[in-house]
Amino acid sequence: MPYTVALTGGIGSGKTTIANAFAALGVDIIDADVIAREVVEPGTPALKAIAQRHGDTILTAEGTLYRARLREIIFQQPQEKNWLNQLLHPLINARTQQLKLLATSPYVLWVVPLLVENGLQHQADRVLVVDVDTATQLQRTQQRDGISLSQAKNILAAQASREQRRACADDIIDNSGTPEQVLPRVAELHQRYLRLAATGKD
Ligand code: ATP
Repeated sequence: MPYTVALTGGIGSGKTTIANAFAALGVDIIDADVIAREVVEPGTPALKAIAQRHGDTILTAEGTLYRARLREIIFQQPQEKNWLNQLLHPLINARTQQLKLLATSPYVLWVVPLLVENGLQHQADRVLVVDVDTATQLQRTQQRDGISLSQAKNILAAQASREQRRACADDIIDNSGTPEQVLPRVAELHQRYLRLAATGKD
């Protein structure tokens, strides 16, 4: 199993931007959100199981998962979230392990937005937190998603706090400057992770 660096951060903190910078250095990226979507693509056993349990109204006209409807069901019947987690977590884990084994770079960057919320930090060798102050996070999220300040605040409130995330960090990357300003820090961390992956020592 390759050395695994988990990259996390709140909404709009810059995970994708930072992950792209690592990818440009040749690091294989494993994206937890992509995997979570893959396991319920049309034709998958998981999507069939969900449709069997909740009926075809859980599917869109195109046969994809109707996520808004599923969120509604989970909101109204919280026990359905457990059922769904029991179905999806093993599939997501298996696919994550498979992608790690296929990786060819000296270490992999595992991008997990809800790492801290889901208590997954122990599944990584190292945790890298993308950190920006809350005002910047709100502003970038609003701008990117075209949502109101109160909508952005609601999303933030449902996530782990900046302090909770920082408490789980082995390394922190400050993304409050421009995307260019963060590149030397990415290069520095890359060297550190290459060392750690090769020797186990910092
Ligand atoms: P999410 O969890 O919501 O998917 P994310 O953590 O992946 O977000 P990004 O999508 O990388 O965050 O960044 C959020 C927005 O902020 C994007 O529009 C991105 O272009 C912008 N952004 C990221 N980093 C910077 C930066 N250093 N300076 C200015 N804008 C930035």
